[in-house]
Amino acid sequence: MKKITIAIDGHSSCGKSTMAKDLAREIGYIYIDSGAMYRAVTYYCLQHGLFTEDNVKLDALQAAMPDIHISFKLNEQTGRPDTYLNDTCIEGEIRGMAVSSRVSLIATIGFVREAMVALQQEMGKEKGIVMDGRDIGTTVFPDAELKIFVTASAEVRAQRRFDELRAKGDDASYESILENVKERDRIDSGRAVSPLRKADDAIELDNSLMTIPEQKAWLMEKFRLCTI
Ligand code: C5P
Repeated sequence: MKKITIAIDGHSSCGKSTMAKDLAREIGYIYIDSGAMYRAVTYYCLQHGLFTEDNVKLDALQAAMPDIHISFKLNEQTGRPDTYLNDTCIEGEIRGMAVSSRVSLIATIGFVREAMVALQQEMGKEKGIVMDGRDIGTTVFPDAELKIFVTASAEVRAQRRFDELRAKGDDASYESILENVKERDRIDSGRAVSPLRKADDAIELDNSLMTIPEQKAWLMEKFRLCTI
């Protein structure tokens, strides 16, 4: 069967990555979490003191870009890809609030986006890929055969994030997470470079009231229709 490119975009914490990972595993495609790449750059900035009180040291970050190497390796235990920065696994570090509260700022920077998009296009050039993010169907793979735009209410998304962080032992409050979700929506949708928006040819999915198995079935059906 011919391999296609699947782009899954949408707001923060609306379950895109769960959907994308499950689908990729089911159909034997590679899964790439593009958000993890922006998180990795953010983590690098934290590690190297590149944040000022409310901004980023742009010149220093631009100079550091050639030293930032991001890759993914399959974790045999979880069956999912872990994110590596310069050959060190940073999968745990990039999911906490320190990175989450700064990543959207990093994702507004043109030269960072340019570098990430080039890397994402390289990773997807053989097709057979499911990539999730904010600009995959609009900028990274505008010719993707299947594009999904996922959304859910901010409150539902914050609750999901809260449950996920709590399960990992992180004690972030629901209010701070809701605030973070809304703030990331605002920055992602309002930025000048590749703002979050639904591609004209994307299929919209509001999963506020859907279970994970329902979503999975919905997505499998869209994939099936796309590949017959
Ligand atoms: O998907 P995730 O929430 O991990 O992404 C982290 C952040 O990276 C998002 O809030 C968004 O600001 C940015 N992002 C982006 N473009 C992508 C993926 C993520 O701007 N393709």
